[in-house]
Amino acid sequence: MALIVQKYGGTSVGSLPRIHHVVDKILKTRAEGHQVVVVVSAMSGETDRLVALAQKLSITPNPREFDVLLSTGEQVAMALLSMALIDKGCPARSYTGAQVQIRTDSVHNKARILEVEGSKIQADLASGTVVVVAGFQGVDDLGNITTLGRGGSDTTAVALAAALQADECQIYTDVNGIYTADPRIVPYARQLSQVTCQEMIELASQGAKVMQIRAVEFAGRYNVPVRVLSTFKEGSGTLIIQSLHKDHSIVSGIAYNRDEAKFVLRGLSDLPGIAAQILNPLSDAHIEVDMLVQTPSINGATDLTFTVHKRDFNQVQELLENSSKTLKLDKLEGNDQIAKISLVGMGLRSHPKVASTMFHTLGVQGINIQLISTSEIKVSVVIDEEHLERGVCALHEAFQLGKEPKEVEIN
Ligand code: ADP
Ligand code: ASP
Ligand code: MG
Repeated sequence: MALIVQKYGGTSVGSLPRIHHVVDKILKTRAEGHQVVVVVSAMSGETDRLVALAQKLSITPNPREFDVLLSTGEQVAMALLSMALIDKGCPARSYTGAQVQIRTDSVHNKARILEVEGSKIQADLASGTVVVVAGFQGVDDLGNITTLGRGGSDTTAVALAAALQADECQIYTDVNGIYTADPRIVPYARQLSQVTCQEMIELASQGAKVMQIRAVEFAGRYNVPVRVLSTFKEGSGTLIIQSLHKDHSIVSGIAYNRDEAKFVLRGLSDLPGIAAQILNPLSDAHIEVDMLVQTPSINGATDLTFTVHKRDFNQVQELLENSSKTLKLDKLEGNDQIAKISLVGMGLRSHPKVASTMFHTLGVQGINIQLISTSEIKVSVVIDEEHLERGVCALHEAFQLGKEPKEVEIN
């Protein structure tokens, strides 16, 4: 008998017939003799609907109340799924994040899980009950409901799997597994049978929304075996493994992100402490900066360019306008019509040709690169959002990602 945590995403529980289908899958796992803990997302579109509702009411919804509102989506789904299981004769109980004590910090809307209390779940499992937990939410030390950031149900599932020492964490979604690129954009994308944690962290952090980045980080840290697979089609999906396996390709995948915005501060006085003066107010406001480039100074003036999440655009604009009162600068430019494309792969560190092939391919397509950043296992570029799909498809083709790795040749 194994203990399996199964997470079903929004599309998988998006309608009553789909909930019935999920019930059948849970019953099948149980019939195979396993204990099951289920984590559910809100029904598809529900979280977006709640976000829009709050934003219609308030320009800056109160973060605590926003979390109370958003957490209801998962609560609806968990209750419906439990009811449907019970109707089929399967003992089931649903719990919100607060009820099972998924304890988080107090950073509303993007809280981090600190600890999971598994005893209530263990007791239910021991009595043969299927436990259904609302994803994406927790509770802070003061008893406030928190949410874990978009896509956070993945993290709930992996954190529960770690706390319960589950044998496998299965992330059921609307694609067959993890692909070399988003299969909705690249028709020839290839499903990977395995991907390393490190690669998946890079893919997720560069925008591959198939799993929330914190979920993969958790899987790596606590050694949780995670498998991403389809709710709708039988198959073994993609296993996220801890370390490199030997047939690994140089580039394992391409990720894109339309959610970033770019700021350029032109003609800044190039003085010690300037970067801190600009960036500290952002970090104080929990705003993450992604790419950051400072150009060499000419006549004591420099340009600073960086990207942030699009949702933070207005707040960053305001913070920069405030700090620019005390800074010397020629111009502040903001652009939220950009996109980032990233190549990810363990082999990148030893194959410098990959980056030049990437730049050449985009050049041939007439796509201008606005920013570049590299790490040992990724190369990212920022381009105009309108060229995103063309760029991703051209790169997928250039690196022959549709073919099995052994057939691919990159010098
Ligand atoms: P869920 O609601 O099940 O959590 P998500 O929409 O969050 O599902 O994630 C699944 C989606 O991730 C897919 O529909 C797909 O469009 C997208 N995706 C992006 N990059 C990839 C990739 N490399 N492999 C698979 N899916 C990807
Ligand atoms: N319902 C939340 C979202 O749409 C969490 C999740 O689905 O993982 O982002
Ligand atoms: Mg998701």
